[in-house]
Amino acid sequence: MDLIQVYTDKCSLCGLCIDVCPSYDTADIIPSLCDYIQSGGKNEEGRPLEYDIRLCYTCNVCTAACPEDLGIRKLISASREKKTGIHGATEEQGLVDPFSKNNLYKKIGEWEEPVEFKNEGIKSKVVYFPGCAASCMNKVVGRSTVKALEAAGVDYSVMSGIDYCCGSVSAGAGNTEPLEKLGQRNIDEINARGSEILITTCPGCYRAFKLIYPQKFENLNFEVLQTSEYFARLLEEGKLDLKRDMGGYFGADGKLKIFYQDPCHLTRAVGIYKEPRRVLAAVSGAELVNPTPENSVCCGFGGGVRTSFPEKSVNQAAEVHKHAKSLGSDIIITNCGGCMKNIIEGGYTTKKECSSNDSGYSNESEETDCCALPVYDLAEFISLACGGEPTERDDLKLIYLSNKALQECLTHYDYAPFDELAADYDPDLK
Ligand code: SF4
Ligand code: SF4
Repeated sequence: MDLIQVYTDKCSLCGLCIDVCPSYDTADIIPSLCDYIQSGGKNEEGRPLEYDIRLCYTCNVCTAACPEDLGIRKLISASREKKTGIHGATEEQGLVDPFSKNNLYKKIGEWEEPVEFKNEGIKSKVVYFPGCAASCMNKVVGRSTVKALEAAGVDYSVMSGIDYCCGSVSAGAGNTEPLEKLGQRNIDEINARGSEILITTCPGCYRAFKLIYPQKFENLNFEVLQTSEYFARLLEEGKLDLKRDMGGYFGADGKLKIFYQDPCHLTRAVGIYKEPRRVLAAVSGAELVNPTPENSVCCGFGGGVRTSFPEKSVNQAAEVHKHAKSLGSDIIITNCGGCMKNIIEGGYTTKKECSSNDSGYSNESEETDCCALPVYDLAEFISLACGGEPTERDDLKLIYLSNKALQECLTHYDYAPFDELAADYDPDLK
């Protein structure tokens, strides 16, 4: 049935979606977006937009709250696609378009090489697809995932970098062209390697391979698993030896208390929340403070909000620290490179606010009442729990370079704390 007809038939304008939405405060947005979508032709302006559709995090909290499985986000996505059809892709959409000159990951690559993975291009039973984010930006995710695979003795190959973009983040922003161009090529490459299992870290890549590609392309002759699903399987098969006491490793007072951050695009969008918890529950010397995703907090990164409204986005990420701390957590574990980067940035700004002296920012963990907590990727944590060495990472560099890239890629990127961040990263930049 036509999307607008579904809303006309089923939406009672009860406002339950608005009660939980972090961005919009009136159910009037629903008929207004319906009017926008159906007015004019596919590629011609009709009724003007009354609401700023860039404010949506695409967190899907609204859909989860709706008794009819509707919410606001579906209308936002359709509105974004229509707007792109009329006005063309925006600079912001170009950031995640691998064919665009202002692609964020290409820009970061001008200063720092992407991760050089072993096993690129070889035939293997398992293919790891880190996606642009874990190859080019938040590299600790890609590096840690292959470490965990090696600890479990998995025969794997890697398809990494911007060349192997899945196209789904761009499609989520309203520009479907990269997905249309790259989908079948990605599938053919995996088939050519004779692979039976594809694993992705990024929720966007997972959604592309699991849900979108089967509807649009052919010959998906392999199983698609998110990293946490694959780790849970390895655990069941007795191949993941979580031998290290992580409470002792982190110097916890008793067990290490873990807050698992549910990425919106994994938990609500594709229903993955049990597997990461199953894996974390098996780690010795650790316990989860949030055994269900109830009341999970959006990290603020998604839907393009980080680029259009950076301070709003980072303030939302700081909420994750506050929530985790209120539950007595020692550490936050994420399962998405974008979430992780934003939550690290939320921790950075929180620490700056907490700092009562002029000694400057430190990304070392400190004994403090400040609610900023250490942030780890799931694969990074699991690789440590298997007895591995810490994965190379530099949080200040990560958030400095990603902001610098946004500043150079966008004409109007306006992030007030950038100068302070640059000075913390390198005082000589002052
Ligand atoms: S979309 Fe769902 S929750 Fe929102 S107003 Fe309509 S029926 Fe209510
Ligand atoms: S998906 Fe968008 S509209 Fe829905 S709750 Fe999240 S921010 Fe609000």
